[in-house]
Amino acid sequence: MSHELGRVQTILQRLESVHGRPRRIARFDPMDELVSCILSQHSSDARSFPAFTRLKERFPVWTDVVEVDCAELADVIRTAGLANQKAKNIQACLRLIYKETGVYSLDSLRSMPTMEARAWLLKLPGVGPKTASIVLCFSMGRETIPVDTHVFRVSCRLGLIESAIGEVRAHDALMEIVPNDLSFRFHVDLIQHGRVTCRASSPRCVSCCLVDICPSCKEGAENRTPVRSETPIVRTRMRLSGVTA
Ligand code: SF4
Repeated sequence: MSHELGRVQTILQRLESVHGRPRRIARFDPMDELVSCILSQHSSDARSFPAFTRLKERFPVWTDVVEVDCAELADVIRTAGLANQKAKNIQACLRLIYKETGVYSLDSLRSMPTMEARAWLLKLPGVGPKTASIVLCFSMGRETIPVDTHVFRVSCRLGLIESAIGEVRAHDALMEIVPNDLSFRFHVDLIQHGRVTCRASSPRCVSCCLVDICPSCKEGAENRTPVRSETPIVRTRMRLSGVTA
């Protein structure tokens, strides 16, 4: 077993001893997941979920969403924030999906390898690495690691990646060290840890189950303030592969 794999397994075992092991549950059809995810960008669940519900109630089929005036669509999804831009992106996505596949559906991605499907999704307006990974992970059961602010922050503090690579490149960096069969658990476990314990401004290091293996806490449980990781695992690999951090 490699050092990185052993470390990832230890992190997940400890986090799951606190929060329990996450189980996959089918959330949405891929099209619903995509639109819901666009609405959630730079927003919260409390603001974006009601907007998605209103959109589905007002426009039962995707043709309705495409044909409605963009300003009217923006009014319906207003609570999600950035409504004008999101309405524009949603309509542009739907039009491109229809143009490419002949239907308002992402089912054609089911037969594609994961990275090919991810590249396809990334061509859609307003779809970045996180949105593409969420669609693949949650609505298709694929092995990807959606990197949100919690996954990114906790991964950096644990020294798995360095913050300089940014959230966009963190997906590929983490996929290098997290085995496919652990990717979903890794994503959910780190989000829970980031929300409850390894919080952005006030991490609870003193009660953290990872304090003895976290390079961001110089003095173990006595130090409540994380410092920048000095030895990220992935740094060497990224340099060897010609990727500059
Ligand atoms: S020890 Fe502190 S910085 Fe490290 S993972 Fe735990 S809460 Fe986060």
